[in-house]
Amino acid sequence: MSEYYQLPGKEVMRKVNGSEEPLTAGQIREHQEKYGRNELAEGKKETILHIFLGQYKDFLVMILIAAAIVSGLLSDVESAVVILVVITVNAVLGTLQTVKAEQSLDSLKKLSAPEAKVLREGNLVQIPSAEVTVGDIVLLDAGDYIPADGRLLECASLKVDESALTGESLGVEKGTEPVTGEVPLGDRTNMVYSGCFATYGRGTFFVTAVGMETEVGKIAGLLNKTSEKQTPLQRNLDQFGKKLSILILAFCGILFGIQVIRGGDAGDAFLFAVALAVAAIPEALSSIVTIVLSFGTQKMAREHAIIRKLQAVEGLGSVSVICSDKTGTLTQNRMKVEDYYVNGIRIRGEEINLEDPQESMLLLSSILCNDASNADGTEIGDPTEIALINLGDRFGLHASDVREKYPRFGENPFDSDRKLMSTQHVMEDRPTMLVKGAVDVLLDRMTYIQTKDGVHPMTDGDREKIKNQNQEFSKEGLRVLGFAYKEIPPDHELMLEDEHHLTFIGMIAMVDPPREESAEAVKECRRAGIRPIMITGDHKVTATAIAKRIGILKDESEACEGAEMDSLSDQELRDFVEDISVYARVTPEHKIRIVRAWQEKGNIVSMTGDGVNDAPALKQADIGVAMGITGSEVSKDAASMVLTDDNFATIIKAVENGRNVYRNIKNSIRFLLSGNFGAILAVLYASVAALPVPFAPVHLLFINLLTDSLPAIALGLEPHTKDVMEEKPRPVDESILTKEFLQKIGIEGLCIAVTTMAAFYIGYRSGSALLASSMAFGTLCMARLVHGFNCKDDKPAAFSKKMWNNVYLLGAFALGLCLITAVLMIPALKGVFKVQTLTWTQLLTVYGLAVLNLPVIQLIKWAWGKKEEKEVTK
Ligand code: ATP
Repeated sequence: MSEYYQLPGKEVMRKVNGSEEPLTAGQIREHQEKYGRNELAEGKKETILHIFLGQYKDFLVMILIAAAIVSGLLSDVESAVVILVVITVNAVLGTLQTVKAEQSLDSLKKLSAPEAKVLREGNLVQIPSAEVTVGDIVLLDAGDYIPADGRLLECASLKVDESALTGESLGVEKGTEPVTGEVPLGDRTNMVYSGCFATYGRGTFFVTAVGMETEVGKIAGLLNKTSEKQTPLQRNLDQFGKKLSILILAFCGILFGIQVIRGGDAGDAFLFAVALAVAAIPEALSSIVTIVLSFGTQKMAREHAIIRKLQAVEGLGSVSVICSDKTGTLTQNRMKVEDYYVNGIRIRGEEINLEDPQESMLLLSSILCNDASNADGTEIGDPTEIALINLGDRFGLHASDVREKYPRFGENPFDSDRKLMSTQHVMEDRPTMLVKGAVDVLLDRMTYIQTKDGVHPMTDGDREKIKNQNQEFSKEGLRVLGFAYKEIPPDHELMLEDEHHLTFIGMIAMVDPPREESAEAVKECRRAGIRPIMITGDHKVTATAIAKRIGILKDESEACEGAEMDSLSDQELRDFVEDISVYARVTPEHKIRIVRAWQEKGNIVSMTGDGVNDAPALKQADIGVAMGITGSEVSKDAASMVLTDDNFATIIKAVENGRNVYRNIKNSIRFLLSGNFGAILAVLYASVAALPVPFAPVHLLFINLLTDSLPAIALGLEPHTKDVMEEKPRPVDESILTKEFLQKIGIEGLCIAVTTMAAFYIGYRSGSALLASSMAFGTLCMARLVHGFNCKDDKPAAFSKKMWNNVYLLGAFALGLCLITAVLMIPALKGVFKVQTLTWTQLLTVYGLAVLNLPVIQLIKWAWGKKEEKEVTK
């Protein structure tokens, strides 16, 4: 049986669809049912039971269970049961957190799912790739993701990046002719494959396989195994956590030894040592980071920034330079034609006279040399081109009719390096090539000019006039396109070399006003210590006019053209970039050089991009940002963040979110480590002072369950504030666990330990070790809950409104307060929890000592802040 690539395209259609006609709506539904959704089967997902059982995999937890069972069998059944219950509740909580985090990451993935342009019932529609089915006809433009495997039916200079399948990174030129003989995948030039990208030109293909039946589906088993990478912060914390665990284990080992030497029961001592290890080892560190990051990304998605790589959330807090495109990101991209320049005069767009052959030719050229469509009010394509066909509509020249009358039979697609595009038609029996593009690029290629008096050789005077008019348009912030034509011999296959010796027709100027929020976002960006930079393919004068309006540039000397960089060495460029805020007429290669130059100066750079050639610059940037609406699928694939509203202000909002998420993670860690350190210090002190052990194993587990995870997660979900934007970007090499941070943790842990031991002494003085232990346990538990409020912010904020704005923290506090009070006050629970029921006075003493941590630590923070201020002013 012949393979699809060995057959003509039409025959493949007949074989698969039974006819050469596109599928009807009914057939599409049938095919979708028969072939399933166009998706790769997900790697085997862990079931909830698996995740739950995974919570017990921790080595220490297993030892603890074993120790509890042994002690239960030997003597203390009640305690063993409580320990097991507490561990189980902990596992349930851990499972819930993991499932929730996974769900939010999954829904994020769905948001960034690619789309495809397909012909359905004669109309071009954009649908999620998952809905493409066998028999569909898919249109490809440069930058599009190929949603399924298929046989090409039409091709216009189409090149495809098939590196995902073949490893070949150069674009493969495609055609429609059948291939003879059996050839490997890379040589099937008339086929396209799912997972690859169109990098140049255009094409149409007929879908032959979807989902797991595609070539990439067949190797998907391998792809599924690639696991999610940890973010740098998670790696950093994991390493820290491991070192800390070893220290804690060593400490618990020594403690066990001391207790046995002092004649304590070895079994009890062992259980205690293991429980202390479980309570003190912050096993939740890395998972808290995952939870907070995943919730942060949900918030960002709601605010139009979809995070594709989790690392980006951390990185956003360190961004110090944001390089942004102009068109559509800083401007509205709602383009509208303002003015025409034809026959040597400027006229309003709506005043075109179709009776005038030159004016009519300009309008027709703008519709024909154009890939956008607006049938049935659905606009598809580049906003610049949509503006042009919308103008045609106003004069009754609908794009579909005009294109039917003058069909295109050849083209040189637009590319942002060349800044031109040309198409081939027969107009009034004359084979014509129409060219449109940047005026300055076109000017060098024009030999003739068309005027009311016919076509003349272009003089220097004509050139000067066009240049001046272009300058005038640009100064008004208008975006200008030039149009030209050339008669070409029939049957000539269009080439790039043909774009010379052209005849000038005219220019069209469009408005694209800045977005209202851009100026404010630029201000905020500067406040946050971030340098905003505009990088655009547009004309320098247009770019400067817009940049001035939104405050990116003050003086014209801060603007340059990309070509000015060509003569600079990398070293020279590094000095050069400092003074430049606007780069015009850049090529994608310039973008990479600009990013690199800033990075070499020690900056973390965010760069936006939309075109197919922007992918390398997006990858080079620390935070590559793609445009969700106008961006090519290639750029989205290369980016770490996608803006669903293409808006510069959204990047600034994302930076704010990134900084807040980082701050919240830091606060959670501070809470976890200081509390755990407090507990260790208390035990250490008791041991050195030869006092009875201040906590029973069940106390430690209770504290671990109640005061570890819940408030820590609540702190991670702390409401975001604007004041993070007052700070400078965080140095990228700054570890979260700085010396200063650890010192603060140490001091706060000490405060908690002191109040805990004070409670212990008060109880001990009345002669009962059990009362001492109960009061110490109650105080440690409460002090940690209270300490949650201290960890909300680095600055003292006690008793201000902000102190009470985190409902999760209030909830965790209230729950903890009720439970610990119940344990200490309900006589029936005393046996189970190894406590002595307290009197009201004793309870109030416990409360008082615990709450003392609030003013004391706030005061320390205030003093710390003063010290830091002094150091800064020095
Ligand atoms: P930005 O880089 O800020 O998005 P841009 O859209 O102007 O701005 P490019 O898309 O690289 O950047 O376009 C560069 C230049 O090419 C434009 O200034 C314009 O003169 C010309 N141009 C843009 N779109 C087209 C098109 N569809 N056909 C022909 N020429 C175009």
